[in-house]
Amino acid sequence: MTCQRCFGRLRMVKLWDDMLKVDVWSCSCINCGDMIDRVILQNRASQRGGVASCTAVAKASCRS
Ligand SMILES: [Zn+2]
Repeated sequence: MTCQRCFGRLRMVKLWDDMLKVDVWSCSCINCGDMIDRVILQNRASQRGGVASCTAVAKASCRS
Protein backbone atom coordinates (compact mmCIF):
# COMPACT_ATOMS: atom_id res chain seq x y z
CA MET A 1 0.00 0.00 0.00
CA THR A 2 1.21 3.51 -0.78
CA CYS A 3 0.43 6.91 0.70
CA GLN A 4 -2.95 8.22 -0.39
CA ARG A 5 -1.62 11.78 -0.52
CA CYS A 6 1.79 11.52 -2.24
CA PHE A 7 2.03 7.79 -3.15
CA GLY A 8 5.20 7.44 -1.07
CA ARG A 9 6.15 4.27 0.76
CA LEU A 10 4.66 3.40 4.14
CA ARG A 11 6.36 2.18 7.30
CA MET A 12 5.29 1.05 10.73
CA VAL A 13 5.54 3.69 13.46
CA LYS A 14 4.97 3.42 17.19
CA LEU A 15 2.63 5.97 18.69
CA TRP A 16 1.39 6.82 22.15
CA ASP A 17 -2.36 6.55 22.18
CA ASP A 18 -3.94 8.98 24.63
CA MET A 19 -7.31 7.29 24.43
CA LEU A 20 -6.10 3.75 25.06
CA LYS A 21 -3.11 4.79 27.22
CA VAL A 22 -0.78 2.40 25.42
CA ASP A 23 1.79 2.36 22.63
CA VAL A 24 0.17 1.32 19.37
CA TRP A 25 1.64 0.63 15.95
CA SER A 26 0.34 2.58 13.04
CA CYS A 27 1.19 3.11 9.40
CA SER A 28 2.93 6.31 8.30
CA CYS A 29 4.31 7.67 5.01
CA ILE A 30 8.12 8.00 4.93
CA ASN A 31 7.80 10.87 2.47
CA CYS A 32 5.16 13.27 3.87
CA GLY A 33 4.49 11.67 7.27
CA ASP A 34 0.81 11.23 6.61
CA MET A 35 -0.87 8.72 8.94
CA ILE A 36 -2.86 6.03 7.21
CA ASP A 37 -6.22 5.05 8.63
CA ARG A 38 -5.32 6.37 12.07
CA VAL A 39 -8.92 7.00 13.07
CA ILE A 40 -10.08 3.69 11.62
CA LEU A 41 -7.39 1.86 13.56
CA GLN A 42 -8.45 3.57 16.77
CA ASN A 43 -12.07 2.73 16.22
CA ARG A 44 -11.32 -0.90 15.51
CA ALA A 45 -9.05 -1.15 18.53
CA SER A 46 -11.69 0.26 20.86
CA GLN A 47 -14.52 -1.79 19.42
CA ARG A 48 -12.81 -5.13 18.96
CA GLY A 49 -9.80 -7.00 20.28
CA GLY A 50 -7.96 -3.99 21.68
CA VAL A 51 -4.35 -3.08 20.96
CA ALA A 52 -3.38 -6.43 19.44
CA SER A 53 -6.15 -6.04 16.90
CA CYS A 54 -5.11 -2.48 16.14
CA THR A 55 -1.51 -3.55 15.53
CA ALA A 56 -2.57 -6.41 13.27
CA VAL A 57 -4.66 -4.07 11.16
CA ALA A 58 -1.80 -1.56 10.84
CA LYS A 59 0.65 -4.27 9.78
CA ALA A 60 -1.77 -5.59 7.20
CA SER A 61 -2.27 -2.08 5.81
CA CYS A 62 1.47 -1.46 5.55
CA ARG A 63 2.19 -4.69 3.72
CA SER A 64 -0.62 -4.65 1.20
ZN1 LIG B 1 2.81 10.61 1.73
